[in-house]
Amino acid sequence: MHKLKEIWRPKAKNLIVPSTELLCVNVHKIQDFQACKRYYFWRWILNLVSRRPNLNFWFGELSHLAHELIAEGKTAKQIKLTLDKRSRKILKGFVVDSSMVAEIDLQLEICKTLMSCYLEMFGGKLQEFKAIGTEVSFGLELGLSGLVLYGTWDAHGILKGKLTLKEIKTASRLTNEYFQRLRFDKQINTYALGVKSEMKKLPSKCQYLVIRKPTIKVKQKETVSQYLIRLENDIWEVRPEYYYITDNFSFGKHRVAATQNDVEQEAFDMMTKVDSLDDKDLLDPLSWARNDRQCFTYGTCLYFPLCANCHKWKLYLGMYQMRDIRYELEVEELNENETLDTSKRGKLS
Ligand code: SF4
Repeated sequence: MHKLKEIWRPKAKNLIVPSTELLCVNVHKIQDFQACKRYYFWRWILNLVSRRPNLNFWFGELSHLAHELIAEGKTAKQIKLTLDKRSRKILKGFVVDSSMVAEIDLQLEICKTLMSCYLEMFGGKLQEFKAIGTEVSFGLELGLSGLVLYGTWDAHGILKGKLTLKEIKTASRLTNEYFQRLRFDKQINTYALGVKSEMKKLPSKCQYLVIRKPTIKVKQKETVSQYLIRLENDIWEVRPEYYYITDNFSFGKHRVAATQNDVEQEAFDMMTKVDSLDDKDLLDPLSWARNDRQCFTYGTCLYFPLCANCHKWKLYLGMYQMRDIRYELEVEELNENETLDTSKRGKLS
């Protein structure tokens, strides 16, 4: 599975190019298909994302980048500069209105503070991990469906003589079950399969780091600099155990095989559904059932306006744009004969 050098976007800015061929799946596609069929349709068939940036994804991408740079031995100063650059690059693709600017600036400073404190706190220990690869993309053919499972893991290398996978996540909330659930987690278990295909053996462990976003907020009349000093104090003095939580998860042959089976079955169901529909039905939201249990699970679902007004959903397309296409096989899935124009606000096209 090859990552594209440049992200693929339609030639005309306001066009949406849907995916009507199913050739490849990733863990997010599968999870969305499981959670809500209509969500899967909006996100992976129509390829819609909000025109405004999702700050959680943006924060997550910056954290990943910082971790990659840490693994490469970069200094805190170099990391901060690269984060600034990447942030600008990501946000360039979205509509950032003036109401978001202050929040983005604050979150960027929080991200940099969390990373520099992490580097300072664990710098010595981090040297124990000898990275073999960072941000490694993989593609594995699934047996049941013939689809290609693709993804990109954060890093793999040697830790205390053992082949180890490293994953980093950012989270606001951590439930008691968070780490328990990793045993079934499709992402890290399929990444283990990716590492196996690269290194010819399963990694022994996954060092899974969760960086928690601060719960303390900027107070009234407090400047960002004063807040960041208070945040550093919270990290170092008040709650040093709160912000960086590591779980050393052990892989096992049976555990990985059980997850692989889940992925195989879900991908097969997905393929069966897609193959049963012609392009006209495939591109009709009514072919994809809604799951009302999911609409408010993580705040209001991004696609709520479309689902709530499904009889005139095209009127709401102006709120969305084409998602980034990052892999070669994803480009092959696109159907340029079925494009949708998102510039015709208020008109059914
Ligand atoms: S609004 Fe609800 S039904 Fe519609 S895509 Fe989102 S989760 Fe599914």
